[in-house]
Amino acid sequence: MKEKASIVNIIPPINIGFDIPNVKRMVNTVAHVLGIQNVVHVMPMKLNFDANAYAVKQGCEYIIFVNEKILRSDKINNFNIRMFIHEMWHVKQMMEGRLKFNYDNTKAIYNGVEYTNLVAHENRPFEVEARRAEGVYFKQVKKLL
Ligand SMILES: [Zn+2]
Repeated sequence: MKEKASIVNIIPPINIGFDIPNVKRMVNTVAHVLGIQNVVHVMPMKLNFDANAYAVKQGCEYIIFVNEKILRSDKINNFNIRMFIHEMWHVKQMMEGRLKFNYDNTKAIYNGVEYTNLVAHENRPFEVEARRAEGVYFKQVKKLL
């Protein structure tokens, strides 16, 4: 009989100035559910964006930048669970080569189609897909936390 795979840590132990055990638990659990084995860094956002989090690819690793307030409070709650499912879904899209950004992040290429800022953020198909993933995986992730 095959044993159920256990949740592994995919986040390197880099010092960001404070500990985020619950955030790491959420990200690792989402990675487990989505089958992501790549290294994913979680870092505080450097710039003040009108967003709580965003994911980028750097070399062959991924970084999820998160609003520092959310990171410091290190809470497992429904909002954060959904947020990490959403961002990890973007990691998955990039891992699969379906989602790419140009060097200055002004253009996204998704499934071979270019999207500029002319298309509202929430209407971009990779955003629609990430939002759908939040609903699809929420219960499964929450149960494991
Ligand atoms: Zn998104």
